[in-house]
Amino acid sequence: MDRRNFFQGTAAAAATGLTGCAAMGAAGSNARAAFAIPDVGIPVVGSAEVFPVRRIYCIGRNYAAHSREMGSDPTREPPFFFQKPTDAIQYVPTGSVADHPYPSLTKNYHYEAELVACLGSGGRNIPVASALQHVWGYTLGLDMTRRDLQRAMGDEKKPWEIGKSFDHSAPIGPVHRVAQTGHFTQGAIWLKVNGQTRQSANLNQMIWSVAEQIAKLSEANELFPGDIIYSGTPENVGPVVKGDVIEMHIDGLPNLSVRIV
Ligand code: MN
Repeated sequence: MDRRNFFQGTAAAAATGLTGCAAMGAAGSNARAAFAIPDVGIPVVGSAEVFPVRRIYCIGRNYAAHSREMGSDPTREPPFFFQKPTDAIQYVPTGSVADHPYPSLTKNYHYEAELVACLGSGGRNIPVASALQHVWGYTLGLDMTRRDLQRAMGDEKKPWEIGKSFDHSAPIGPVHRVAQTGHFTQGAIWLKVNGQTRQSANLNQMIWSVAEQIAKLSEANELFPGDIIYSGTPENVGPVVKGDVIEMHIDGLPNLSVRIV
């Protein structure tokens, strides 16, 4: 199923009502969009609802061993975040192996397995102690990365954008309501390529917890319902090529699988 067609006509109200950015309002309350663009959302498990996605935030280097493999010192670094475009979402239904296109421009295309927190409310300067109250649900996803381009841009002190924020760069599973799963503070996270384990760690090895990530992000930007946060990847990131099948797992969630095509 094509993801753009899938989401057409869903959650139309959410796109204009949630953010307060009032892009349409600038031209007056009767203004119509000149043309339609797809809404982006992620199906919610066990319901006909779609979780509308407003922004995709991602934390960098949030597991110590991964931070070291990327050449950083995990003991000194405050958390930092980047974004992917909302329409980078590639929804992967549970039980399927979705075709994931190998992107242009790269010769070193990497997987990063991550827990994703999905916010149902937001705010500014959210305290760590109450931060998890803003989580509506959880899922799992891949922060796909053109590693060669990310590194080259970093070496030149240029933005990571081309390495991280491109079409289809955010494969993601269905959203599970927090009421059904509880919060994810520990549990296995692993990733296999063609059946061989490549990443294997525990969520309790995050440097900055999901609650701390929400608190920190809310100091930089007001958070809103529909914001989702990729919470970082463990060590042993690595490349895939066309034909490879990625399977990832987090305890308490169904596995997610894609085939690189
Ligand atoms: Mn990542």
